[in-house]
Amino acid sequence: MKKTIGAQLSLGFALIILVTVGIISLASNLLITREFESYVAKQQREVSDALASGLSSQYDGETGGWNVDYIHGLGMYALNDGYILKVYGADGQTVWDAENHDMEYCHNVMQEIEERMEKAGKSGDFITHAYSLSAGGEPIGRAEISYYSPYYFDDDAFTFVGSLNRILLVTGALAVAAAVCVGILFARSISRPIERVTEIADEIANGNYGARDDGPAGTRELRELRDSINHMAEQIARQEEMRRQLTSDVAHELRTPLANVSAQLEVILEGVFEPTPQRLSGVYEEVARLSELVAELEKLQKVENDRLERSEFDLYEEAASAAATFEAEMNKRGISCDVSGNPTAVYADRNKIRQVILNLISNAVKYSRGGAVAVSVRDDGENALLSVKDEGIGIPERERALIFERFYRTDKSRNRKTGGAGIGLAIVKAIVKAHGGEITVESAEDVGSTFTVILPKRNKEEKGEPTWNSRPS
Ligand code: ADP
Repeated sequence: MKKTIGAQLSLGFALIILVTVGIISLASNLLITREFESYVAKQQREVSDALASGLSSQYDGETGGWNVDYIHGLGMYALNDGYILKVYGADGQTVWDAENHDMEYCHNVMQEIEERMEKAGKSGDFITHAYSLSAGGEPIGRAEISYYSPYYFDDDAFTFVGSLNRILLVTGALAVAAAVCVGILFARSISRPIERVTEIADEIANGNYGARDDGPAGTRELRELRDSINHMAEQIARQEEMRRQLTSDVAHELRTPLANVSAQLEVILEGVFEPTPQRLSGVYEEVARLSELVAELEKLQKVENDRLERSEFDLYEEAASAAATFEAEMNKRGISCDVSGNPTAVYADRNKIRQVILNLISNAVKYSRGGAVAVSVRDDGENALLSVKDEGIGIPERERALIFERFYRTDKSRNRKTGGAGIGLAIVKAIVKAHGGEITVESAEDVGSTFTVILPKRNKEEKGEPTWNSRPS
C-alpha cells in the first residue's frame, strides 16, 4: 500500500528529530563525561599532592620523630578514598605503610576500584607518585602515594554520571515524543486540505458540480489549490448550465419555424394548395431564417470557446471602417451616420471587436426610423470607450437587462418582425467579457438608445490571457 502524504511527512519529521536529538544527546554526553573525567583526574592529583604536603607537618624537627598516630589516621582515611600511602624517614626506614598495616583491606580497596572501573568499561591502572618530604629546607624523608590512574569514580561520581545519562535520555525521549506529535499535527494540516481537494475533484469527476471545499487551507499554496478547484467547479457548473440552457433554447427557437415550414410543405404535398412561387418563397424565407439562426449560434459558440488573438490596433479607425459598411443601408433608410473621437490604441482581438461594433451599429440601424446614428470613440487613460447612439424605438426599462441574453427580443422588435434571432447582443457581451470589459445601455422608449463598451486598453507587454483566477466570471 502506498504511504499517505501525512504518514510520510510525520515519519520524515520524526526521523529528523530522532537523529538530531540522538546526535545532540551523544555529543553532550561524550563532552560532559570527558570534562568530568578530566576534572576527577585533576582532583585526584590535587588530593595526592595535599596528602604529601600534609605529611611534612607531622615531623617533629626537635625529636626527629614522626607523629605516627596522625599519619595512621590520615593513611586510613586516604585508603578509604582509594589512596595507598607509604611514608619513609630520612634513613629509609618505613614510618607508615598502608599495605603493611592492613594488607587485606588494602587489597580489597584496590580490587574493588579495579572491578568497578572495569565494569564501567574504563581502563586504567594503579600508579605511584613519589614525593620528597622536607622541613625547614632539610630533607626528612619521602612518601609514595598510589591511586588508580588516569582517574577513578567513587559512588558519588557514578551516581552523577548515571543521573546525567538518565536526564539526557528522558529529555531526548520527551523531545522525540513532542516532535512526533507536532509532526503529526503539522502533516495533517497539509494533508487534510489536499485530501479534501481530491475528494472534491472526485465528486466533480462524478458529475456533482455543486461540490465545494470551504474548509481551512493552512498555507497560501493550499489555499490557491482549493480556490482553483472551487473556481473550476464553478466554471464547469456554469458551462453545464449554459449547455443545458442552450439545448432547450435552441429546441424552443427551432420548433415554431420548423412547424411552419412543415405545415406549409404538408398542405402543398397533399395538394391542398398549389406550390406557387409565392408560397414556396415563404417557405424559403423561413428556411433562410433558420440557417441564419444556426450561423449566429455557431458564431456565439466560437466566441465563447475561442482564445483571443490580441494585436494592437486603432479602435477609432476600426469603428469608422465598420460604420462605412452600413452606408448604403443607412442611405436607403434615411439614417445619417456620424463617427467621432480620437485615435485610440487598444491591445485586443481585432476581428472580435469588429464584430462587436458591427452588431451594435446593425442594431442601431435595425431599430431606427430615420434619425441619426452616432458612433464615438474615447480614451479615459485606462479604458477605451466606444459608444453607439441611435434615435430609434428604445428599449423598455424592464427589458434592458435581458436583451443581452441569448434569443431575447423585446416585444416591440418581435412585432416589427425585424428578423433578428436575438443572439447579436449575446455575442457582443461574450466578446467584451472575454476582454475583461463591460457593456452598458442607456435608453428611453421612442427616443433612442446608447450602448457603451468599456474596454481595458492593456499594453503589448501584458500579453497572454487573463489567468484562471482573474478571468471574469
Ligand atoms: P436581434 O438579432 O434580435 O437584434 P440582439 O441580441 O442584437 O438580437 O438584440 C436583442 C434585442 O434587444 C433585440 O431583439 C431588440 O429587442 C433589442 N435591441 C437591441 N439593440 C437595440 C436598439 N439599438 N434599439 C432598440 N432595441 C434594441
